Amino acid sequence: MNEKKMKNFIVLILFVFVSNIYLQTRARTEIQIPDILGYKTLKCDFHIHTVFSDGNVWPTVRAEEAWREGLDAISITDHLEYTPHKEDINLRYNRSSEIAKSHGDELDITVIKGSEITRSMPPGHLNAIFINDADKLKTDKWQDAVAEAVKQNAFIFWNHPGWKAQLKEGKIKMYPEHIDLIERGILKGIEVVNDVDYYPEAFEWALKYDLTIMSNSDIHDPINLYFNFAEHEQRSKTLVFAKDKSEEAIKDALINQRTVVYWKNNLMGSEKYLRPIFDNSISFDKQELSFTGRQTKFIQIKNNSEVDYKLKLVSSSQSVDLPEEITFKGNKIVLFEVRPKKKDQSGKEKIKAVYEIINMKIKPDENMKIEFLFSAEFNPAK
Ligand SMILES: [Zn+2]
Ligand SMILES: [Zn+2]
Repeated sequence: MNEKKMKNFIVLILFVFVSNIYLQTRARTEIQIPDILGYKTLKCDFHIHTVFSDGNVWPTVRAEEAWREGLDAISITDHLEYTPHKEDINLRYNRSSEIAKSHGDELDITVIKGSEITRSMPPGHLNAIFINDADKLKTDKWQDAVAEAVKQNAFIFWNHPGWKAQLKEGKIKMYPEHIDLIERGILKGIEVVNDVDYYPEAFEWALKYDLTIMSNSDIHDPINLYFNFAEHEQRSKTLVFAKDKSEEAIKDALINQRTVVYWKNNLMGSEKYLRPIFDNSISFDKQELSFTGRQTKFIQIKNNSEVDYKLKLVSSSQSVDLPEEITFKGNKIVLFEVRPKKKDQSGKEKIKAVYEIINMKIKPDENMKIEFLFSAEFNPAK
């Protein structure tokens, strides 16, 4: 190899090496869920730990993890009362959010200052976010910590209400202390999902008491040690419908309950948000079918979101056979098969089929239903 060839070879090797590092280490994967109702659909995680409490991660890493995973906003919520690394760091309660925010600002990730008020049950663990001084929340009595958070205009929510370590006789329970906080307008949200645990009771309470429903990771470890991204595992997230990703807009959305749980391919929350998410995800290539005899026809259904919508037939017209179950796979087009039941049918009919979407819950025990409408023209087989 002459000198010039050698040089080119080295440049090529360097290029391959550098581009591999680039591809492997610093790429963002967008979360594909459509915007709705004139709002941006923000992907958020409002419960995250760092070394400033019992987490195993430096705060800047949290901002970049969120960026890579396609999130828009996070809140760092280190425990005030449980700080096992305090001998190894210079513990100050505001620092984790501040350090994460400095990197978040670089990456356009909104980092909201928070704290986890970590007490025995009741009230258990409460997150106060949008605070301005975490130091002042370190009080002897939990009531004083909550009062200070209120003074700082925090949004306060109840963390992991079904956490096993804090259950009485193994039962998830709302205490008079919680009801009192709700009635005084202090407790505004509840984690329906924390980490990999879903609490149907919390979903029920959110509906009953008009609480903002939330789903957060409560991550302590480095995110890619905890989830297997190669297997498409993801952290639990709260979808927030906000004008933009500023703190003010996110806070407005949380106060007005414009949220949906996004957890393991499940969407849970109010139908007024779930329905437009589904409608904006799905499109059809045609809605008129013409049959001869028992010929099978197809409607191509495109899903622009990453969610695999799992449908189950509830009722349909007597004239045609439709899939009993079908999955509108994320980012795919699927064939929806329609076949007349009888070969000698004739005439036109508006076909209506009702499906329930088993991974879209509007109540703990109720799935969202959709109506599927198309027109059919039947010609008898010759
Ligand atoms: Zn906790
Ligand atoms: Zn926590």
